[in-house]
Amino acid sequence: MTLPTTVVRGVESALEDHTGKTVRIDSATPVGGGCINPSAKVITDSGEGYFLKWNPTSPPEMFHAEVDGLKALKDPGVLKVPEVVDSAGSGTPEDPAWLLMEFIPPGRPDSHYGRRLGEGLAALHSSAAPPNDVHGDTPFFGWHRANFIGSLPQQNDKSEDWIRFWRDLRLEPQLKMARDRGHFTGPDGRTMEDLLSRLDEVMAGSEKGGPALLHGDLWSGNFYADSSGSPVLIDPAVYRGVGEVDLAMMELFGSFPRGFREGYSEKRKWAPEYDAFRRDLYQLYYLLVHVNLFGGSYVAGSMAAAERALAY
Ligand code: ADP
Repeated sequence: MTLPTTVVRGVESALEDHTGKTVRIDSATPVGGGCINPSAKVITDSGEGYFLKWNPTSPPEMFHAEVDGLKALKDPGVLKVPEVVDSAGSGTPEDPAWLLMEFIPPGRPDSHYGRRLGEGLAALHSSAAPPNDVHGDTPFFGWHRANFIGSLPQQNDKSEDWIRFWRDLRLEPQLKMARDRGHFTGPDGRTMEDLLSRLDEVMAGSEKGGPALLHGDLWSGNFYADSSGSPVLIDPAVYRGVGEVDLAMMELFGSFPRGFREGYSEKRKWAPEYDAFRRDLYQLYYLLVHVNLFGGSYVAGSMAAAERALAY
């Protein structure tokens, strides 16, 4: 495939800085599976492979935020995460934004894959808990910067109050966006308001175990097995929250890989409230995001999640 000229120039120059050698891109092969950006495996004239994605219309902050998130997930060293080479471009058709990273070839999950993913995710969630607070002494929910969930903005203002964080920075903004697009009017809207006004009561005690470092967008397309069968994490929307948020996203459109739950719960407490109703509260955020990204077919699922949480 042909890459945009400015991307080729930027990538070659970044690789020269990275490797200390003159680098030319020999070939680029499309990689499927992403939701937002065109992507490719590029091979250099010295035979090295890298993963490249680019976008001619989205703001470069999207990739800058992803770089920040990938580094944060890689830092604790508990799960495999691609190493970032560079990101640049202004996000216009003439100068698309791009992100270049290590290419980690996909393979087949081995028999320990699910358990290792569970143990690794639990370790990741525990890695940001106090006292390992790299951003200061006071534990907080949120992150040092805003980022994106899919292509939608995700605010991460620091807060010591998890329930307020979940209401004000997760559910409410997505609900407002959905309402601006004509969804959640009438009785549906009243149910959502009812849930938001009762969140203190419904979520009481939910902050235990936080703040944890979250992947933030852990659907099944954002983790895979490498060629040795071990789990790899990609494409995060990182912040500090409650680990159950990642679990809920993993379960939203599928089920945990075999052995995952055992691996996770060996390392971190698995609260019965998660299975009882908190999964619904956390999935509700992602369902509202889907309403805003993909339309009204996710409204019924959002209502069902809100009603289950309220009924508990
Ligand atoms: P998008 O930002 O468009 O959602 P992703 O980051 O999810 O794109 O990447 C799209 C696909 O490319 C993934 O589903 C995965 O199969 C593959 N992929 C992503 N990162 C890498 C990588 N570092 N090495 C190899 N393949 C990757």
